[in-house]
Amino acid sequence: MLTIHDASHIVIDAETERTADDASRFEVGSPGAGSDGHPDEHLDARGGIVTPGLVNAHHHLLQTAFRTLPGTRGVPMREWLPTMAAAYAEVGIDPELAGAAARVGVAEGLLNGVTTVADHHLTWPAGCDSVGIAEATAAAGRELGGRLVFVRGAARDDPEKAAASADAIAEALVADAPGGVSADGLLQVAVGPAGVHSDGEATFRLLGEVAARRGLRRRTQANEQVDVVIALEKYGKRPIALLDDWGWLAPDVTLAHLCGVTDDEIALLAERGVTATHAPGCDLPMGWGVAPVAALRAAGIAVGLGTSGGGSNDAGHLLADARLALQVAPLAGPPIEARSILSIASEGSAQGLGRGELGHLRPGSAGDLCIWDVSGVADAGVADPVAGLLWASPGRRPRHVVVGGRVVVRDYELVDHDERELASALNGLLAARR
Ligand SMILES: [Zn+2]
Repeated sequence: MLTIHDASHIVIDAETERTADDASRFEVGSPGAGSDGHPDEHLDARGGIVTPGLVNAHHHLLQTAFRTLPGTRGVPMREWLPTMAAAYAEVGIDPELAGAAARVGVAEGLLNGVTTVADHHLTWPAGCDSVGIAEATAAAGRELGGRLVFVRGAARDDPEKAAASADAIAEALVADAPGGVSADGLLQVAVGPAGVHSDGEATFRLLGEVAARRGLRRRTQANEQVDVVIALEKYGKRPIALLDDWGWLAPDVTLAHLCGVTDDEIALLAERGVTATHAPGCDLPMGWGVAPVAALRAAGIAVGLGTSGGGSNDAGHLLADARLALQVAPLAGPPIEARSILSIASEGSAQGLGRGELGHLRPGSAGDLCIWDVSGVADAGVADPVAGLLWASPGRRPRHVVVGGRVVVRDYELVDHDERELASALNGLLAARR
């Protein structure tokens, strides 16, 4: 069992917080043994705030290897896509590169308080070892002790091949585990085309069939500007209407981005029980606008938070994007409170993944949490320390991070790994291939 001592504040979930004496001792896991038989452990949280681990509901981990690429900033997506594709082709996408990029991306996330990351992998060059890419990505999560959701995506792939690959990946990674979640909860498999702008009805149908057969969640992206333009050009319909025609508005589906949705579309999404992922750290630099998060939530839609990938958002820092979400909310509706955004970045994301044990610290939680030190100058004079977690100290990192009752970041450093080694392994691989 892990015991956390002397926190000043514990955020259990959006509704419940503990303070003062009630926060001085917090236990995670069962007495006598840690999650993997470790002896009882203690963590000093003196004066700090405990929150649930953050859940990054939308990342493209491979793009971690392609950040700040010339020609990808301030350009329309029709220019962005071929520039990224050329960079992928130059370096070569294979299990080795996918693994190195995922190790960096998962480590970056953990150091920033992200205990679960959903990797929507969209890059499958002809003839690639798709199971190998998925296995290398999954191994990165496992090595570092973070939870990973591997989303077998598709972007202009052959529909039959994409479905066969998704099926093989699910078999290799989680076999027939219920909901596509491994028994230890560290790995999950889901499926998801990039969007109606890149994939046709057949891809949605065939990946949907794999999901139905194996009980996997479905995810896709909708209403990035280009998505709406292409859907109207190609089909004479907006993306949400198309997804409805294709059976992709349902409670097991999460839609990322959702910029520029109409009131009627929001009502339809709510009626169908779809969940959403807000990704302002991608949507803003790409010029796509700001998703109407308050209106989506008011309609009863669970909203999570994602960073999206390094090709658009050069950081996998979910708390920084939670701050951004807070700051831009008034441009797309009523303002949203800091506590609500914190809940979106944890439990909201977990809901879209179908993971009721993640994103909160109520009884029955999986024991993923962060301890944030708030004793420095950046937090001095802050009247509401939980609101201050988001408003104050941009780029804040947690002091300690725990996944499943196991400490994976201690005093701002990865346990058992050197982040500089992970970084130089990726940089070395990129240099050798260019
Ligand atoms: Zn995205």
